[in-house]
Amino acid sequence: MTERGSRNIILLGAPGSGKGTQAARLTERLGVPAVSTGDIFRANIAEGTALGKEAKGYMDRGELVPDAVVIAIALDRIDANDCRNGFLLDGFPRTTEQADALDRHLAAAGRGIDGVLLLDVPTEELVRRISGRRVCRSCGASYHVTDIPPARAGLCDACDGALYARDDDNEETVRNRIEVYNVNTAPLTAYYEERKLLLRIAASGASGPDAVFADILKALRA
Ligand code: ADP
Ligand code: ZN
Repeated sequence: MTERGSRNIILLGAPGSGKGTQAARLTERLGVPAVSTGDIFRANIAEGTALGKEAKGYMDRGELVPDAVVIAIALDRIDANDCRNGFLLDGFPRTTEQADALDRHLAAAGRGIDGVLLLDVPTEELVRRISGRRVCRSCGASYHVTDIPPARAGLCDACDGALYARDDDNEETVRNRIEVYNVNTAPLTAYYEERKLLLRIAASGASGPDAVFADILKALRA
């Protein structure tokens, strides 16, 4: 980690572990943009682009979008000017191939990853969390019907936008996404542990989003 605290950060965790919620808080606190490959794909689906059409089938089945596609999109995004002083990756990398590509790309520019936050949540809790998830159509803020309810049902506290349930948040797709995470993404834990970058955060429901955020700041010394 760098002296003045981490800047280039990866958020790792199963679907439903709270990456999006914590990314929104962290990006505000650290002043670096959150880069979510899932959000990039959803925006492309909403706009009906070729990329959106390609990604939608994989996403609806809970499968990974092919590495070549994701890697090109993600690396291009972190080369943008607003990522010069740091970025917070949410949902990328998700495979060892993606992690290697990211590593090589950053190294070539004399950059690197400063810290990898692993949001640790027991598997049994994930399905319950995701099936109650609601997302703001306008600003992307994340809620839960019982755990993190908005002040007014169906409306975003931050921007009054309409809340909706994501297409891939149905139980069958969720189970597949968790399985895909365990097979493809969980190995990244060891990958970043070997590189002395892994910061484990207990993020089960008992902790609550505020306590998880406090632990993240402590881990990052931010
Ligand atoms: P969650 O973390 O809750 O699964 P995301 O928004 O990060 O939600 O991802 C939704 C879907 O987008 C994934 O199930 C996958 O199909 C696709 N996706 C997002 N990021 C990646 C990635 N890095 N590699 C492959 N597929 C991805
Ligand atoms: Zn909103």
